[in-house]
Amino acid sequence: MSVLVVGSIALDTVKTPIAEHADLLGGSASYAAVSASFFAGVNLVGVVGDDFPKEHVDYFASRKVDLAGLQIVPGKTFRWSGEYHWDLNTRETRSVELNVFEHFTPALAPGYAATPYVLLANIAPALQHHVLDQMEKPRFVIADTMDLWINIAKEELVSLLSRVDMLILNDGEARQLTGVTSLIRAGREIQAMGPRFVAVKKGEHGCLLFGPERFFSCGAYPLEDIHDPTGAGDTFAGGLAGFLASQNHGTVTFEHLRQAVVYGSVIASFNVEAFSLERLRTLTQGDIVERYEMFKLMSQFEVIAE
Ligand code: AMP
Repeated sequence: MSVLVVGSIALDTVKTPIAEHADLLGGSASYAAVSASFFAGVNLVGVVGDDFPKEHVDYFASRKVDLAGLQIVPGKTFRWSGEYHWDLNTRETRSVELNVFEHFTPALAPGYAATPYVLLANIAPALQHHVLDQMEKPRFVIADTMDLWINIAKEELVSLLSRVDMLILNDGEARQLTGVTSLIRAGREIQAMGPRFVAVKKGEHGCLLFGPERFFSCGAYPLEDIHDPTGAGDTFAGGLAGFLASQNHGTVTFEHLRQAVVYGSVIASFNVEAFSLERLRTLTQGDIVERYEMFKLMSQFEVIAE
């Protein structure tokens, strides 16, 4: 089964306290599509300018990402620049150049409308709506978002929530969207806005999964060296969506999602080990299985006998 991924495709400039790199392959859809491709076929919907390096297009193709939905138009590719603080959990956006993104209308290539799993990676909620308008009865729809849209497009974001099965957002965004400080209450309040499932990411502290009357807390892999946290959220969402598609369940349940958030966390933990998507270029299925087993071991414990 395949996943349709729509989102941004970018050239990023990223500064950490240790290093700075310019014009890296980035964007929510780039990270999410490559991450999902470790588990399932991917139909990519996005836009780039005619300055977008061919090597990046070739890389997507080498991951068997279907590119019939990739628009290459005259102009410059979307550019984003961010700087991380010492804890690598907080980041400031230094600049955003929308470029070809400004007039982007996502269009589905022939056959895409029937894709059963949909990941609306981080882009303007209006564009996420536009993609959903074109889909024929998808089986499971996941949406990601960011603080910017809660600030400037809250109404469109809230109306999207009643159209999706799952929302993924980080802890700060969950608090911002609901106005409550407790993440548990925030997760429940977001469910009440529409999605049956909500995943709240907590950076290096893992994530919380909310389902109908169920709750799961997934830890994060304790990495010694984090080089670039960019795309952690997008690779988490992509891995989760790709894993679900690979399982091809008639109905997605809380138990399926429990496993999917662990696979999402596994891919995200690899992604932050290097800048851009560099670590994913050498990632193997064996690496994924090994780290999944480590996650399992880390979260098991026995009740101490009296
Ligand atoms: P994350 O680290 O998961 O929050 O995602 C980082 C990626 O989001 C970067 O590669 C950026 O290119 C992309 N990005 C940043 N701002 C936006 C935006 N306003 N719309 C879409 N993508 C964005």
